[in-house]
Amino acid sequence: MALPIIAIIGRPNVGKSTLVNRLAGDQTAIVHDEPGVTRDRTYRPAFWNDRDFLVVDTGGLVFNDDTEFLPLIRQQALIALREACAAIFVVDGQTGPTPADEEIAGWLRQQSVPVLLAVNKCESPEQGAMQASEFWQLGLGEPYPISAIHGSGTGEILDELLVHIPAVTEVEENNEIKVAIIGRPNVGKSSLLNAFVGEERAIVSPISGTTRDSIDTVIERAGQTYRLIDTAGIRKKKHIDYGTEFFSINRAFKAIRRADVVLLVIDAEDGATEQDQKLAGRIIEEGRACIIVVNKWDAVEKDSYTIYDYEKTLEGRLHFTEWAEIIFVSAVTGQRVEKILELVNKAAEAHKRRVTTSVVNEVLTDAISWHSPPTSRGGRQGKIYYGTQVSTQPPTFALFVNDAQRFNDNYRRYIERQFRKQLGFDGTPIRLFWRSKK
Ligand code: GDP
Ligand code: GDP
Repeated sequence: MALPIIAIIGRPNVGKSTLVNRLAGDQTAIVHDEPGVTRDRTYRPAFWNDRDFLVVDTGGLVFNDDTEFLPLIRQQALIALREACAAIFVVDGQTGPTPADEEIAGWLRQQSVPVLLAVNKCESPEQGAMQASEFWQLGLGEPYPISAIHGSGTGEILDELLVHIPAVTEVEENNEIKVAIIGRPNVGKSSLLNAFVGEERAIVSPISGTTRDSIDTVIERAGQTYRLIDTAGIRKKKHIDYGTEFFSINRAFKAIRRADVVLLVIDAEDGATEQDQKLAGRIIEEGRACIIVVNKWDAVEKDSYTIYDYEKTLEGRLHFTEWAEIIFVSAVTGQRVEKILELVNKAAEAHKRRVTTSVVNEVLTDAISWHSPPTSRGGRQGKIYYGTQVSTQPPTFALFVNDAQRFNDNYRRYIERQFRKQLGFDGTPIRLFWRSKK
């Protein structure tokens, strides 16, 4: 859901950039790098009443010997117009209508976008009305006298503009899921990325990550955007020979920190190694959702017990991520690769899920009645007063108890298991804080 765009059009020196500055105030510019367009256009966020929009200065419309647009300028103005929901055509009230204004007006009349006519440099109200009236002849409707420098008249034109700006009812939410692909060298991280991207029919563009340690690729499936944070590609793209055993755990850690969901890729032939355990440990510490992707499944000789046996062994080695789903894929044949994204959706959803306090306490009451809190040697029993979810990503709960010391690890694990059993949270770690309350 992009913000509506207002294009500012006119000859050079009529006051377009002054008007853009006036509308956008000192809000920061967003520069978009459009392929095929030589000049970057700068989009500036602005608002009027309850509407947010972007203002873009199309650059002065320059003419060959005053009669014809320079083709490149015309092309840029067209691109700006095509994406705009309305345009403001700025003219100079002090010079009056020029042949170039007529030319631009004629061209604008052929476009489908609504156009408002701003007659700039009209500082004095009486003179301004006179100056503005001369521009009726452009055939673009009512000319609005404004002064971009002083700000007079801009309110009126913005009021009129609102008619053409669609209301954005909900606050724009960036619902892209950030997915880090991590694992030891040669487990198939790059192949997996290629498998995702190779099927991509819509726009795929490599976007440089915020750090130089990873390269982001944005893909889309069924309306959902995924930002894939790839830690492998950089090594290959830069053609730096680190040797096959080179493995920057730091780079993996940074990718984990940036992600919502981590794909921990394991080579099916090697199984989970000590390095994988270390990575899994970090994923939990950082509170990230995780999916264990066992790759190169095509290369493993299988009988009917293999997946089951394999899972058991893996779970043994990575027992602290028992909540993480395990999926067996082949990046090379593409087997089950798309299924990974379904698990990503589920994990991301669980990761940011919020449960009401009443539901949390229902689960707690139930858990306690099945299995009461331990009694300490002194004979005093642990008591849970209530619990509540204090944050998401990962889901974090505070349990208020009489004395946290009375609750041993066994009982804490039991409560966590009950939370998972009753509330779901597949694919994400959850955190329980036990707080003593006097
Ligand atoms: P652009 O080339 O269309 O972007 O025009 P600018 O915004 O750079 O303005 C060109 C000149 O017109 C500058 O000298 C501005 O100071 C002047 N100018 C802009 N707006 C106004 C205005 O409302 N009143 C007056 N008198 N001058 C203005
Ligand atoms: P990375 O270092 O983790 O990025 O691993 P690569 O994607 O470069 O893959 C390392 C090697 O494993 C390459 O020779 C791949 O062709 C191979 N490979 C990757 N995925 C698979 C797979 O699903 N099956 C098989 N048999 N080989 C794979």
